[in-house]
Amino acid sequence: MTNTTLKQLATNPSCMDDYDPNAMSVQQARTFIQQFLNPVVETELLAIRESLGRILAEDIVSPSNVPNHHNSAMDGFAFKYSEGIKMIKIIGTAFAGRPFEGEVKASECVKIMTGAVIPKGADTVVMQEKTVNKGEYINVLEAPKQGSNVRLAGEDLKSGETVLSKGHQLQAADLGLLASLGVAKVLVNRQLKVAFFSTGDELVSVGKPLEQGQIYDSNRYTIYGMLSQLNVHISDLGVVPDQPDLLEKTLLDAANHHDVVITSGGVSVGEADYMKALLGKHGQVLFWKINMKPGRPLAYGKVSHAHYFGLPGNPVSTMVTFYQFVRQALLLLMGKTVEPTPMFVVECTESIKKAKGRTEFQRGILFEEKGLWKVKPLSSQGSGILSSMSKANCFIVLDETIGDCEPGIHVNIQPFEGAI
Ligand code: AMP
Ligand code: MG
Repeated sequence: MTNTTLKQLATNPSCMDDYDPNAMSVQQARTFIQQFLNPVVETELLAIRESLGRILAEDIVSPSNVPNHHNSAMDGFAFKYSEGIKMIKIIGTAFAGRPFEGEVKASECVKIMTGAVIPKGADTVVMQEKTVNKGEYINVLEAPKQGSNVRLAGEDLKSGETVLSKGHQLQAADLGLLASLGVAKVLVNRQLKVAFFSTGDELVSVGKPLEQGQIYDSNRYTIYGMLSQLNVHISDLGVVPDQPDLLEKTLLDAANHHDVVITSGGVSVGEADYMKALLGKHGQVLFWKINMKPGRPLAYGKVSHAHYFGLPGNPVSTMVTFYQFVRQALLLLMGKTVEPTPMFVVECTESIKKAKGRTEFQRGILFEEKGLWKVKPLSSQGSGILSSMSKANCFIVLDETIGDCEPGIHVNIQPFEGAI
């Protein structure tokens, strides 16, 4: 960590001993970005259905016990337990939502439905299937242990307990959990406003015919898809050709109205890559060459108050750098308490060509064989082969220490499911 400002680093990269923008490790780049991220502070009160995917701005404390009364886990008979009990008299019925009002005494029981309140005096429920009905009485065929089949008040949540913490991203189960507490509205962080555009003279939007040398802009669609999964407010600013004045106008407009601006293309040092000069003029932006493949060039910094991410233009590089740097940064800016992305170790079935000294994110297919999960790398690993991202279901993460691999070795994988 450093106290050096973005401006110092952008104008004089040699101001820090251990900072070399041309040889950054993946972890170093992540750590660098993280120190400049301050989460949004504005909040809004939302109905629980509207809050799916949003970040809690407050702890949720249970106002009551859940369940708030002892209740039956089975359809059966509630009775007062005693050793060797056999014949019990039925004195009434308890339905879910319609309790039995009286008291159960020794050798008495109440016919009870799942979810109904355990009547006063009773402490145990015997399943209906373990009894034989004899008119006003039941014969207990197999007595349960004392306390069986009773769900205790507060066994799910206790009154006063912190149920969900500030910084938690609300999931489907949480909406139900909030409802189970009777909570109708929750305070969440406001949505992050994210703008993005593609840069490049060769790019054409879908719906128009392609001329010689042109390609369709795919990055705007992958970026749109990746952002949609994060529950941020998205502004798609289109394709901007490699013209300095247009790029400048789009960049500044975007930065003035959004928390984050993402561009793809134009951050390497090709002749028509004007973004770098523009960012030097208006922003405090760091240009890195990361020891990784795919996705070597990456720019991060600030333009006005907006965070800026300049992703490489090659379609796979765009996605990999988004997942490895931008996604976590956006979650932190949203105010989420971020946990590391899960990694698993599995056997790799093929050999892998890999140079030491950089981290590779190869695309792989995770599959099951005789009860064991294994991974097979895709044969085409080029940074322009977007179909590799569609065919794959995981990244094979090979760190800087790893070189060529023989079939059968164990490798780290990050499944797409959940993240992608
Ligand atoms: P650049 O980073 O601008 O030098 O672009 C690197 C490569 O990615 C070039 O082959 C570009 O044509 C391609 N590329 C850049 N932007 C896009 C995009 N939005 N969609 C598809 N390919 C792109
Ligand atoms: Mg370009």
